[in-house]
Amino acid sequence: MRLGELRAVFGSRIKALEIFFLMYGLKPVVRQGFYDNEIGRVKEFCRSKGLAWEIAPYKVVLADPDSKFSNKGFKARIDDPRRGMYFVYISKDERKATEAKIYEMKNDHRRLGEALGYPDCCVEFFVKNEPERRRLDNNYVIPALRNSQGVRFPYYTNVCKRHKDAAFLSHFPHSFECTASIEMAKKCFKMLSELEPDTAMMLVRELKGRVRIGSREIEFY
Ligand SMILES: [Zn+2]
Repeated sequence: MRLGELRAVFGSRIKALEIFFLMYGLKPVVRQGFYDNEIGRVKEFCRSKGLAWEIAPYKVVLADPDSKFSNKGFKARIDDPRRGMYFVYISKDERKATEAKIYEMKNDHRRLGEALGYPDCCVEFFVKNEPERRRLDNNYVIPALRNSQGVRFPYYTNVCKRHKDAAFLSHFPHSFECTASIEMAKKCFKMLSELEPDTAMMLVRELKGRVRIGSREIEFY
């Protein structure tokens, strides 16, 4: 399976990468948001590859519709007239896709994070910070930085370039030094370098460099 084909179906490089890692056994379940007009080709892809998929029975309306990349949204009924995205849960295992959908319906962030295969430390971090971040911006980069010592971190944990469609991780690491997240991203990088070396090197180039977060400047190397 070529990444380019996945990108044509799923719409972005980050989404294509997640599916790529799912197909090669590095992720148990992937959760992604799609608009009405995108869902048909995603379903068709899953059907053709023997992947299970589940769609949430509500849509998520972005709180900031002008921003192309936003973390913040709220659940709305399917017949709500506002444009919204549907969460789709994709897995090789039908039960896992269903469970992830149910945990998210119940706002059970802990079980959802576990179902998506995120490290325990990062799941705990999310659960702890969620009440505050939900009210603010749903962005967990600031609390992750609070948990990080120093100013230089391995590029594996760089989740600050997601708006530029670059990241190895699909969760917020609890710290930019999180060992479990680094291990996870390394496995993804290794798989990608074997199968799509040009994309792997391009991503690394994009993930390395300085990033400003609030008043702090850090560097991923
Ligand atoms: Zn962690």
